[in-house]
Amino acid sequence: MADQQDVLYRVESDPDWNTVAAGTARVSLHPDETAPEVVVVSGPCPRCRHETVHSEPLVSYANALDRSSLLARLLRRRAAEAGSREVEVICACSATHPEAGEHTGCGASWVLHVEWGV
Ligand SMILES: [Zn+2]
Ligand SMILES: [Zn+2]
Repeated sequence: MADQQDVLYRVESDPDWNTVAAGTARVSLHPDETAPEVVVVSGPCPRCRHETVHSEPLVSYANALDRSSLLARLLRRRAAEAGSREVEVICACSATHPEAGEHTGCGASWVLHVEWGV
């Protein structure tokens, strides 16, 4: 197996990575699984195999608003219902990949289907 440190930085995605990541990713819902506000996906990048972590806010607008405002309450209630999200994960591993420049990770992105409350 090649040294994965030598994987060149490239912005690309591959449907196969979605399948691989679905089998290796760990998903946690915060603050709890019944009313998640943030999805945290962690696991090995399917391209470079390094550990990477991605946070996806489900109520992004609510964070920018007064949390007691009507809109924030509506958004929070919607997020609390059973739902699903196609989470795009971008590799943000801590390894330094050749040609990465100022970027982190290896440039790979993949999509993970996350469901909650079902
Ligand atoms: Zn990497
Ligand atoms: Zn990677």
